[in-house]
Amino acid sequence: MDAGKKPVETVLVVNAGSSSIKYGLYRADDLTLIERKNIEVKKAGGYDAAFQQVLDVIAANNVTSVGHRVVHGGKDYAAPQKIDAKVFADLEKLAPLAPLHQPHNLKGIKLITDKYPELPQVASFDTAFHRTQAKLNQMYALPRKLTDEGIIRYGFHGLSYEYIASKLPEVADEKTAKSRVIVAHLGNGASMMAMKDGKSVATTMGFTPVDGLMMGTRAGATDPGILLYLLEQGETVKGLSDIFQKQSGLKGVSGITEDVRTLLASDKPEAKEAIDLFCLYAARQAASLTVDLGGVDAIVFTGGIGENSGIIRDKILSQLAHLGVKTDTAANDGSKPAIHASDSTVKVYVIKTDEELMMAQHVKKVLAPKPAAPAAKPPAP
Ligand code: ADP
Repeated sequence: MDAGKKPVETVLVVNAGSSSIKYGLYRADDLTLIERKNIEVKKAGGYDAAFQQVLDVIAANNVTSVGHRVVHGGKDYAAPQKIDAKVFADLEKLAPLAPLHQPHNLKGIKLITDKYPELPQVASFDTAFHRTQAKLNQMYALPRKLTDEGIIRYGFHGLSYEYIASKLPEVADEKTAKSRVIVAHLGNGASMMAMKDGKSVATTMGFTPVDGLMMGTRAGATDPGILLYLLEQGETVKGLSDIFQKQSGLKGVSGITEDVRTLLASDKPEAKEAIDLFCLYAARQAASLTVDLGGVDAIVFTGGIGENSGIIRDKILSQLAHLGVKTDTAANDGSKPAIHASDSTVKVYVIKTDEELMMAQHVKKVLAPKPAAPAAKPPAP
């Protein structure tokens, strides 16, 4: 053993959700993945016990910086941020906008700060990538006062979209990556983004991650009149939150499960109806994004469903045939990233997302020493 050798410096990224805490440990020099783990909070014996495992990783490895996924960065945080007392206080103020996620994200930051006050930490926001959008694309048709108060379309899944934006030039080519692209992140949470020149132009999730596509347990775009009706019928706010976020979507429509694999394997008509409605919502939302882009040149699928289910991709794409989309059936069932037919006017790709690696890259970028200011020019002789 090389006793004199210093242990390699590492970057830890933490994605603290409500039911699980995922972490990834990377070499600090080249961001090679060392270890990844998904800790189920329930199985670990609660949030504190689950987080203790993360603290143990810090204690056992030479962790020199930490990145955190923070769902909401509000109107102002358009890029990852080094966390200090001011940033932390700002993010606490945003917690009511993402009550299911933000408090967990912040708890992780606080636990690490308390134990390792000198360890630099960086927040990566799910909303940040969308802050390039035009004001109009972020607005609701609500009274101006509410817009001014911050009731706007924030959009989410930004880490996944930023990663896809960074990979698309490699998978396709520079020209395609800069063209009119729709990215479909289809997982338990699902959304789409319209992208031009590698930047977010519009997205389907809005003020909260309930809007847009039909999802695993979330309803997606739904007439707000239904909320009012149910409230008038005596439903509570908690009950509504439960219906729209936990009991709807694939789970609610099928009455079986939100798991796409199980639904695809089921011969129950409700399972088929749930899958068909999911694909109809997705196709409609994709078509609506062509308005923001003025057409579409490429579509990218990612997320657990988008990466793995050729059936779902085909069901969505076949409803976009009028836009010039044509799938290569063999490619769609295979493992190559390009799945469009040779005569399709729209290119279609499947790319595996990597939100954790994106966070590790953010940590490195944010904490990189800033180049020294150029020396003042000597006075002319
Ligand atoms: P999350 O949003 O929780 O990160 P994922 O991106 O992991 O979710 O996506 C989970 C969904 O992906 C589930 O509905 C699961 O059934 C689906 N999925 C995963 N693998 C496959 C597969 N091979 N075929 C169809 N669906 C799949």
